[in-house]
Amino acid sequence: MHSMNRAYTDEQFSCLSPAVVRASTVVFENFEDFVQRKRRQPDGYSYGITGTPTARLLERRIADLEGARHCVVTPSGQAALMTAVMGFVRGGDHLLVSAASYGALKTFAEKWLASMNVEVEFFHPAIGAEIGERIRPHTRMICLEAPGTVTMEVHDTPAIARVARSRGVLTMMDNTWASPLGFRPLEHGIDFSVEAATKFLGGHSDLLMGSISMNDFQHYEVLRETQSILGQQVSPDDCFLVLRGLETLKVRLAAQSTATLAIARWLQRQPGVQDLLYPPLESDPGHALWKRDFRTNGCLFSMILAPGPEKAFHAFFDALQTFVIGASWGGVHSLAAYYPAAQQASRKFPRTDQPIVRLSIGLEDPEVLTAALSAALDAYTTALAAA
Ligand SMILES: *Cc1c(COP(=O)(O)O)cnc(C)c1O
Repeated sequence: MHSMNRAYTDEQFSCLSPAVVRASTVVFENFEDFVQRKRRQPDGYSYGITGTPTARLLERRIADLEGARHCVVTPSGQAALMTAVMGFVRGGDHLLVSAASYGALKTFAEKWLASMNVEVEFFHPAIGAEIGERIRPHTRMICLEAPGTVTMEVHDTPAIARVARSRGVLTMMDNTWASPLGFRPLEHGIDFSVEAATKFLGGHSDLLMGSISMNDFQHYEVLRETQSILGQQVSPDDCFLVLRGLETLKVRLAAQSTATLAIARWLQRQPGVQDLLYPPLESDPGHALWKRDFRTNGCLFSMILAPGPEKAFHAFFDALQTFVIGASWGGVHSLAAYYPAAQQASRKFPRTDQPIVRLSIGLEDPEVLTAALSAALDAYTTALAAA
């Protein structure tokens, strides 16, 4: 019998789906048990703030995907990034952050950490072993993300991890773009792999969740404590939904990855498209590193259209069918988002000073998606000609 497949089982009953265990209060057997409750951490249960068996099951499943020994889930991807940093970085420390990192992490570093006397330094996202030149005696952590949010830069992860480890600096990588099926940061020497489980793992645009996976037990103890002190616990119902999402992760990702590369190649040939920021394409400067390290084409890329006024972008989005306009990505519905030129230009080490259209490819028929994009590009080039 494959009892391992059963997520929930007791003497009377057994099934394939996990139990949703809701609790704030955890009940203790006796006085002694209660007095010693802190000893149950980091894995055990003492109050809802450190999780219930539903959260532990999800943590186990994500850790297995990441090839990690431990995992801590958080209420959002954003919370996972902040919790990983807050667990280890203190006033007086130096923090290195890739300029292509998730926007909220950069804001947190610049506005909160800097005011708490953390020295924050951004570096070029395409950096490799040269990161060593930025490391100082008080450098505590390096925050990475590849391909970078919106602009899709790829860094040399193993080279950075090697230098960091030899200098005693922690590394955290936001691995959301690839998911653990496409890249496993810990196998490349990274200390903490962060996922916005909101995206691929949940997969249905209906929840927020984050995860931090790691191998080191002491790091795990620190992050479990940080999670509970910062009050970052997740709803068991949301854990259930992510557990359900994980059941189809592999097939969703495979279908989306194949469709995404095909659509990107098609877009490259269309009038009105100036450039695609997407490392799976040979034309992308990050292609060689991407090819060496990554096992999926993801479902997310950015597009730079032939220069035109904002009015033309209006026309593009007004004409765009099937794609929903909205933030986030990784779900079964295709999405389109717009990032104005000013936002790119104001960045440190910008990849472009032009507006960006970012697409997330879902599970719709790829031909329906290319037809929708074709009509939107027609509207764009017509608006350009009229401008
Ligand atoms: C969406 C996203 C996050 C944040 O996740 P939320 O769950 O929305 O807070 C972090 N990193 C990357 C790369 C993301 O795409």
